[in-house]
Amino acid sequence: MKILFLDQSGQLGGAELCLTEIAKPYRDRCLVCLFTDGPFRQALEQEHIPVQILATQPLQVRKDSGWVQGISSLRQLLPLVARVVQLSREFDLIYANTQKALVVGALASLISRRPLVYHLHDILSLEHFSPTNRQLAVTLANRCASRVFATSEAAQAAFIQAGGCPERVEVVYNGFDPTLYQCDRAQTERIKQELGLQSKFLVGHFSRLSPWKGQHVLLKALQYCAEDVTAIFVGDALYGEQAYAQELHSQVAELGLQERARFLGFRYDVVPLMYACDAIAHTSIAPEPFGRVIAEAMLCERPVIAAQAGGAVELIEPGVTGLLVPPEDSETLASAINFCRKQQEWVRAIAQKAKIQASQRFHQNAINRQIAHLLDQIPIHTQSKPKAREHLKEPQSLIPPNPLNKGG
Ligand code: UDP
Repeated sequence: MKILFLDQSGQLGGAELCLTEIAKPYRDRCLVCLFTDGPFRQALEQEHIPVQILATQPLQVRKDSGWVQGISSLRQLLPLVARVVQLSREFDLIYANTQKALVVGALASLISRRPLVYHLHDILSLEHFSPTNRQLAVTLANRCASRVFATSEAAQAAFIQAGGCPERVEVVYNGFDPTLYQCDRAQTERIKQELGLQSKFLVGHFSRLSPWKGQHVLLKALQYCAEDVTAIFVGDALYGEQAYAQELHSQVAELGLQERARFLGFRYDVVPLMYACDAIAHTSIAPEPFGRVIAEAMLCERPVIAAQAGGAVELIEPGVTGLLVPPEDSETLASAINFCRKQQEWVRAIAQKAKIQASQRFHQNAINRQIAHLLDQIPIHTQSKPKAREHLKEPQSLIPPNPLNKGG
């Protein structure tokens, strides 16, 4: 099956990292189209996955935009749709990986008559989406998508609650290659040394800086933790949330935590950094759609303490494969960190179980098999069939070169 993947972002967010793994087995018969350039393009190129940037400017409409902004973005949207229609003629299926990609993909699929799959990486709640955008996503998914892949049961439930068609949506968890989540002791020690934090009990927070990711909750918790507990914050403000990053630095100064909180920015060496940590905190204050970081920490055999909501509840069995605490509750988070610090044997056993479970439940091969099976069930339109529509074909000069012939 030849797949045209669409994603609005050039950044390396969770949805984009997930897509990279999904696209790998299709690298010789797919094209990933991005609506913005950025490090995601480079990551795809490194994996030899064909990629094309379709727009020069990011679409102005946001998750919380209403109708007015939506309509005013049409000028940007229509050329994108036209381009995707052209490209899609070379593919069997359009795979929209983000919400703006759904809008473009849905319109293009109606015109090019290619089936559409929507991978829903969000919880369609009013905390994250304007009522207009939520309605738009559900309507387009119901009308145009043959299948909706929800990133967790929580995402699936929110989709159905918002009016999404229950028969069309299937839970597809993020997949991981467990062999990539290994690190030797020497590398771990080197990282600790570089950070100058060998003697500390190190708590890691791995996430882009954004108010709903709740880095402030961990900073507040540090006040109630033993003196040697130190936190590293790995991640940057990817989507223009610099004001929040600034607030976090002010909070550190106000609480006198300069020696106990480090901001490392966006890092590509997440795995060794996780190994350097004694525990990983996941502090989202709104339900996390999936929580790749939780699964990654489990694969790195590190104890995870996560806010009890959304995907985290599906990933962690509390007291067996990790710990769950109420969202936004810094004191309970601090108690859980102090507990991990004191009960290191018990915590090690939990982390071992977590690794085994995550390696089985989220194994990339199993997830890719599930996706291939679901895609195979979608009836595809074959190129040879629509002879009667020959007169609708574009003149040859307008047909773009086949990206599959470009040696990808
Ligand atoms: N990540 C990364 N470098 C960083 C911070 C995060 O590579 O500096 C990765 C992290 O390992 C995870 C992804 O970004 O794979 C974030 O995914 P998640 O589902 O946790 O959150 P999202 O960004 O999708 O909301």
